Amino acid sequence: MNCVKKIIKILVICLSVLIISGTNISYADKPVYNSNKNMKEKIAITFDDGPHPVRTSKLLEILQKHDVKATFFVIGENVKNYPKTLLKIVEGGHEIANHTYTHKILKNSSYISLKKEIIDTENVVKDCGGKIKKMIRPPCGIFDYNLLKLANKDGYKIVLWNIDTHDWANEGTDKIVTNILNNVSGGDIILFHDYTSGENHTKEALDRIIPILKEKGYDLVTVSQLLQE
Ligand SMILES: [Zn+2]
Repeated sequence: MNCVKKIIKILVICLSVLIISGTNISYADKPVYNSNKNMKEKIAITFDDGPHPVRTSKLLEILQKHDVKATFFVIGENVKNYPKTLLKIVEGGHEIANHTYTHKILKNSSYISLKKEIIDTENVVKDCGGKIKKMIRPPCGIFDYNLLKLANKDGYKIVLWNIDTHDWANEGTDKIVTNILNNVSGGDIILFHDYTSGENHTKEALDRIIPILKEKGYDLVTVSQLLQE
């Protein structure tokens, strides 16, 4: 099986587990967000899995070109490897949030190891000169009660998404743009990736979709701005 097929298979499995695990967790009164439908004129663009020295830098150029601030859910290990790229995100005025240190799936892991993933990421971002929000996006959107416990105890928001651009599926720019336009509405949180395996169309799709969303009257904001009541 080639690499792309393997990645797609993993992502499909992740998605299936999310659907299954989601049925076991009641989000009522829990700090879990995938949108804010009270914010009808705002949309938040988010990026997972960076920073990546080449691809994140290209995304930052597009965001700057269109004067948009976004939220980057970074992996601690990548911050450690590419501190200069993290600083570029900071200098661009964007928001940084937590996507664990090793991209560990936060289900069936001990409370201590889960907390270490979060704290280690916070520390490496701070060591590199960045500020990190108390917002966690669990890899593949999968989590269990230990993450809810941490979030409740220490005041984190668990941030998912309600528009998956499918930029990870390598189906081309048109598909990403169409997928967003067919589904988007005010208050949404859109999921892109800094890095995906193989050919990547995130940058081109972002460059096309931002002007369209603006023309529709949406204000493109960070997750923190979207989630404030
Ligand atoms: Zn991820």
